[in-house]
Amino acid sequence: MTHKGLLVVISSPSGGGKSTIIRRIISEGDPRCRYSISATTRAMRPGEKDGIDYWFVDEAAFTEMIRRDELAEYEQVHGHLYGTPVRPIEKWLQEGCIVFFDIDVKGAFAIQRRFPDETLMIFIAPPDLETLRQRLVGRGTEASEAVRIRLERVPMEMEMGKAFEFTVINRDLHRSIARVKKIIAGRLAERGAVA
Ligand code: ADP
Ligand code: 5GP
Repeated sequence: MTHKGLLVVISSPSGGGKSTIIRRIISEGDPRCRYSISATTRAMRPGEKDGIDYWFVDEAAFTEMIRRDELAEYEQVHGHLYGTPVRPIEKWLQEGCIVFFDIDVKGAFAIQRRFPDETLMIFIAPPDLETLRQRLVGRGTEASEAVRIRLERVPMEMEMGKAFEFTVINRDLHRSIARVKKIIAGRLAERGAVA
């Protein structure tokens, strides 16, 4: 069954800018916007809040969520488990919401397979690898070993990114946000919803 809502799946290498872009768009206040809060076993960063940024859980709780079939998809990323709770998605789709996902490239395709008629796939690409590294280091949230692990995954992510419906090269943040909003408005218009 096709639902009224739209699932906007946004992926990029770590440091690509996806959380910044998603946060800005949601903060503009369209009442239809929702954020899919993932569960993760990684440690909370300073400034993050449980139930806002992620559901921070231990491995036992994560395994229990898998066993109960509560996750639409899950992946091991950078050595930690991350997964998307399915129940909020189904509810928000019924309600006609625009649901944003900040998930890795493999999780993105899993959501598309599960909700093929409702999913919009947008890949945020860095202008170049050095800029990506600088932004990741500049964010200051990861130790150098964690930065190294995140950069190791970039070639696979850039390769899988080629199969996304849309790619936005994130040079100027304002332009990237405008481009993502335009892509979403286009898809809503195609589906007969008010953009
Ligand atoms: P991701 O969520 O993809 O890991 P973030 O949104 O955290 O990436 O962005 C990584 C860092 O790069 C942040 O410090 C963010 O402020 C910065 N950033 C994002 N987009 C741009 C841009 N277009 N120009 C300069 N800095 C950016
Ligand atoms: P971070 O630790 O920087 O918050 O996220 C690391 C990576 O995990 C990012 O690429 C992020 O998009 C991805 N991620 C976050 N939540 C999920 C999820 O629920 N599923 C999948 N597959 N990836 C996720």
